[in-house]
Amino acid sequence: MPISRPVLAGTLLCALSLTLGAPHAPAQSRSKPALLVFITVDQLREDYLEKWSSQFSGGLKRLVEGGAFFTNAFQDHAITETAPGHASIMSGRFPRSTGITRNVAGVNNDPNAPLIGVNGLSASPFRFRGTTLTDWLTSADARTRALSISVKDRGAILPIGRSKQQVYWYVGNTFTTSRYYGDSLPDWVKAFDARQLPQHYAGKVWDLLLPPASYPEPDSVPIENQGRNFVFPKTLPADSTAAASVLSASPFMDEVLAAFALDGVQQLGLGKGPETDVLAVSFSPTDYIGHAFGSDSREIHDQILRLDRTLGRFLDSLYKLRDPGTVIVALTADHGSTPFPELSQQRYSPPPLRVSSRPAVAAARAVLGAAGADTMAVELESGALFIDASRPGVTPALVNAAADSFVAVARRTPGVLMAERYASLASHDLGKDAIARRWVQMFPPDVPVQAVVTLTRGSYPDPFPIALHGTPHDDDAHVPIVFFGAPFKPGRYAQFTRTVDIAPTLAQALGITPTEPLDGRVLTAALR
Ligand SMILES: [Zn+2]
Repeated sequence: MPISRPVLAGTLLCALSLTLGAPHAPAQSRSKPALLVFITVDQLREDYLEKWSSQFSGGLKRLVEGGAFFTNAFQDHAITETAPGHASIMSGRFPRSTGITRNVAGVNNDPNAPLIGVNGLSASPFRFRGTTLTDWLTSADARTRALSISVKDRGAILPIGRSKQQVYWYVGNTFTTSRYYGDSLPDWVKAFDARQLPQHYAGKVWDLLLPPASYPEPDSVPIENQGRNFVFPKTLPADSTAAASVLSASPFMDEVLAAFALDGVQQLGLGKGPETDVLAVSFSPTDYIGHAFGSDSREIHDQILRLDRTLGRFLDSLYKLRDPGTVIVALTADHGSTPFPELSQQRYSPPPLRVSSRPAVAAARAVLGAAGADTMAVELESGALFIDASRPGVTPALVNAAADSFVAVARRTPGVLMAERYASLASHDLGKDAIARRWVQMFPPDVPVQAVVTLTRGSYPDPFPIALHGTPHDDDAHVPIVFFGAPFKPGRYAQFTRTVDIAPTLAQALGITPTEPLDGRVLTAALR
């Protein structure tokens, strides 16, 4: 029994508490899709859908068993963070083309896009370059509308690109947007916020969905959650404001996102045709729970089971509102997750380490300092070394010498797999060398990255106490891709695919043409 049921009952969203129906294939309608539902699960490793599939009974079961499931799919870029991942999935282009290369250079700090009604970081797609599937749809039919929601600004904004659509994220215990999208919140969003659904979870207990014997993972693992509250059950704060502020790190926020999405479909009339509308939902709690407890935890196992149930109720409710034969669904993730190194000593060879890059950065700074240049021109971020040539005293020759020094010291550092000048990576065999390929597909030519460093598989950069992602290794890059609906041939597909292949494949299914060259290819095997 979902413990959220008492919370959702009595809202306008009672449809969410429908009992689960048996999984079924979508109707074989040949009519043009009226609604694309694009689901991103933040930090969903592909193996979660494999190893726990026998315990699925809801939306993940329906999508995986009834859809075209690409099991060998990758975010094929190096910095596997939330912003670049979300920017690639509906653009069909790598970060070197979207310009969204890191979370810290993602959607925030646009002075023209303050939030509406709450304090928080300004956010807009001002760094995003080019178009997305939503732009191709609106080019083909101006009536197309999109709703994109997430807990995170980057998770809501980037799948839609620059299009000024209905885009909302969770700040200050409410859903809001920024002035990039409008001057005020629409009444339906104000009304949803006024219901205070997140606050209703005050005092709610998160306990295991299934009997404890259903979970092979140990529960009491002190490295989880920085040594705090790492066993079941877990209780949300009794204070409603406090509960709402931490809800995103619980499975219950997925229920709120699903309720908000269904409300939006009804209020905006999405998917009634004749045009194709877009509903994009980035379900964020898997990422928050994954960062806290890691990919080996009982918590992430239970979270994925609960996500399965929530997605099942979400799809059941959606298919009551719209003809399933006119709805297509795609599901993927923005990145995966790397286990805690301490839990991977037998899993990978060499055993993973925690690695400090400080000596390598210090070596680069020493080169600048010895020449009287500004040592703060050097910055290492997400494995990429930047040297700001506009800083006092920094010359092109010094940039080269400093970057070479960084690479030399990094290569001598235990736990470093590769360190290299960025310009030389293109000479690798990019078909075989996935690490080099993912770095090459990372940065636009105008981003002045001088060198990159990648640790051995499973190693973490010091000093991060939480579970991490962000590397070019498959732990972080391997994600599921699922297409579901009348245009797709159900089955498991083992061919190598990339998340940039999603948008062109959906465009083909929707009968539209991308308006710019893409990195991705149409996955014709999945199409009827
Ligand atoms: Zn993410």
